Amino acid sequence: MAETGNTMEKIVALAKRRGFIYPGSEIYGGLANTYDYGPVGTELLRNIKNLWWKYFVQKRPDMVGLDGSIISHHKIWEASGHVAGFADAMVDCKVCKARMRGDHLVEDYLEAHADELKDYTDKTKVFEKPLTKEVVDAYLSTGKVEGLSNEHYDAIIKQHTIPCPTCGANPKKDNNWTKVRKFNQLFPVQLGIVEGDEGKGYLRGETAQLIFTNFKNVLSSNRVKLPFGIAQQGKAFRNEITPGNSIFRTIEFDQAEIEYFFDPEETDWEPLYDEWKKRMNDFVTKELGIKEENLRWRLHTDEERSFYSKKTEDLEYNFPFGVKELWGLAYRTNYDLTQHIKYSNKDLSVVDPQTGKKIVPHVIEPAVGVNRLMLMVLCDAYTEEENRTVLKIDPKLAPYKVAVFPLLANKEELVKKAKGLFEDLTNDFMVIFDARGNIGKRYLAQDEIGTPWCVTVDFETLEDEAVTVRDRDTMKQERVKIAELKEYFAKKLVQ
Ligand code: ATP
Repeated sequence: MAETGNTMEKIVALAKRRGFIYPGSEIYGGLANTYDYGPVGTELLRNIKNLWWKYFVQKRPDMVGLDGSIISHHKIWEASGHVAGFADAMVDCKVCKARMRGDHLVEDYLEAHADELKDYTDKTKVFEKPLTKEVVDAYLSTGKVEGLSNEHYDAIIKQHTIPCPTCGANPKKDNNWTKVRKFNQLFPVQLGIVEGDEGKGYLRGETAQLIFTNFKNVLSSNRVKLPFGIAQQGKAFRNEITPGNSIFRTIEFDQAEIEYFFDPEETDWEPLYDEWKKRMNDFVTKELGIKEENLRWRLHTDEERSFYSKKTEDLEYNFPFGVKELWGLAYRTNYDLTQHIKYSNKDLSVVDPQTGKKIVPHVIEPAVGVNRLMLMVLCDAYTEEENRTVLKIDPKLAPYKVAVFPLLANKEELVKKAKGLFEDLTNDFMVIFDARGNIGKRYLAQDEIGTPWCVTVDFETLEDEAVTVRDRDTMKQERVKIAELKEYFAKKLVQ
């Protein structure tokens, strides 16, 4: 990642210019916090999803997949606690109408005063009540001030005259802030013609709950036995208040979640937890090719962790806009299944066929957003060199593995040969054909979308059945026989 302050702007601009990510509903003025994925972004997102599936499902004997419904019964979300508790603290600026999260407003204020916080003591004048020592200490250890009451946020904003970050309005002068209120993030959907709760569903706020509600189905229809995991990828919906930073936080996103079920009397949770932690780390560094130095683990404090969780950690990534949560790992005990047993009145326990022992299994949950993984991949790969910008994406992830060019677009015999080669290679790889502009421009365009190899068909090719292969990272060129090309790329892709 380049070190410059506006790296994120450059990445966002490149992502739009080259067809990775477009703002949602753009021709109608845009729809906040939604994005569409262009041709190149679609490939990248799909590659990440497929790699995740291969790594966590295909290659493991103890994992199975699931594809649950997006629209789901309101009771699922009552049982899970989302209807009552899945809420953010929201505050509006009356001057510019910007809506933001109260906790984020305070966090940004503290970040801007980081120097003063460094020698913070409870005697420091700047940070007196209601910004208590507890709040500042929690911020210093976690970077967050989540979980305070609405009144507490109101008081901090007032006490420190925190201005609107969007328009600069000042609470003393402009009285710009509304009161902080709780805002539930679930999207309700009215189904059929029945009004009231009976006709009410929700767009799922996470994929995980569908795993719990289908637990018994999976258990009875598959040859699985504890410990085993159920994995799911799919859309989740959250009415997020303060997004920004491209696809980092959006109202619709792809989650990839696993619930790993086990009997705590048979399997120690701590080594199992550590094993999952290692898997997550390995996936990010070895499969996605992310630089280790940009990652770190953050343990949730007792206050921050859900009451039913014994341990929760976030794998964080050093995005250009700060170190942020990438992937959560939580030991959730058997809270979720127990809740669904209570609300549905169904027996969701497991009976050991040998001993007759009946238990409600516990779970370890690794939960990640695929779009957030994609943003990380873009940020990590973004490289500025003297005369070019290159996305040094792991070739496994690259939207196109190979670009095929005829040296000259107006020489029919070259174009014909290059098209034939393109068609042949498409049987094995995602390949792009380009005959526009000069070769230099074509290289630059492919560098910006991370294509690892460019193949040029020139006049010599017509004589010697060989092509020039140019490597994205080294920019070195070598001559390779057409007959050996597929093997050449296949070998490089497994390196
Ligand atoms: P945050 O604190 O960032 O809101 P969270 O702790 O609520 O996230 P979880 O409910 O644990 O997130 O979701 C698991 C993962 O799903 C997150 O680690 C993140 O990768 C992804 N995720 C959550 N919310 C969003 C969102 N609005 N947009 C994109 N990805 C998201």
